[in-house]
Amino acid sequence: MAFTIAIDGPAAAGKGTLSRAVADHFGYAHLDTGLLYRAVGKRMLDGVEPIEAARALMAGDLSDDGLRSPEVAQAASKVAVIPEVRAALLDFQRAFARRDGGAVLDGRDIGTVICPEAEAKIFVTASAEVRARRRFEELLGNGTETDFDTVLAETRERDERDATRADAPLRPAADAVILDTSALDVGAAVAAAIAAVDALRQGMSAG
Ligand code: C5P
Repeated sequence: MAFTIAIDGPAAAGKGTLSRAVADHFGYAHLDTGLLYRAVGKRMLDGVEPIEAARALMAGDLSDDGLRSPEVAQAASKVAVIPEVRAALLDFQRAFARRDGGAVLDGRDIGTVICPEAEAKIFVTASAEVRARRRFEELLGNGTETDFDTVLAETRERDERDATRADAPLRPAADAVILDTSALDVGAAVAAAIAAVDALRQGMSAG
C-alpha cells in the first residue's frame, strides 16, 4: 500500500534529519529530492547544459560527495527555476512517492506538485537566522571555511529564488501541518513530526 509523507520547507530547516528519522520510524523509503537538483547543478558547474544533465541523470549521480557544498547548493537553486529541468525529474519522484510500503520525500514542492495526494504533508520551517546558524555549524564541522554572514546571505538568496520562481515555488500546501523548529532541538522536532503523521494515520483509519 502507498503512504506518502511529503516534507517541504526552506533551506537548512532540518528537513533532511527529520525525514530520515521519520522514514526510519515508519520503516518507509526516503528520497532527498534536493539531491536531484544538486546533481544537476553540479553538472552545470562542470559545463554540462542543465536540461540535458537532468534528462541524463542516473541514480548513482546522487551519491557524489561533492553535492553538499554551498556552491552546488546555489547552482541547484539556479537550475531548479528551469521548467524543463523540473519536468525531467518529475516521473522519478512521483514513482518513488507512490511506491509500495510507504515513502518519505523531502524537498520544496512535494506536497504541492510532486504528490498533492500525499497522505501526510509537513512544512518544516525556522527563522533564517536559526537556519543559517545550523548550516554554519555544519560547514565548520566538516572543515569548510566560511563566516556566519556569508551563510546567512546565501540562505536568504536561496529562499528568495526558491519562493519567487514561477514553476513550483516553495510554499506550504493548503493542508500541510506547519512545523516551526526555531525553538526545538532535533529530538523534539522528530517527535512532533511523528505525532503529526500518527494523527493523520489515525484520522484515515477512523474514517
Ligand atoms: O534541499 P536542498 O537544499 O538540498 O535543495 C537544493 C536546491 O534544490 C533548493 O534550493 C531548491 O532550489 C532545489 N529544490 C527544488 N525542489 C525540490 C528540492 C530542491 O527546487 N523538491
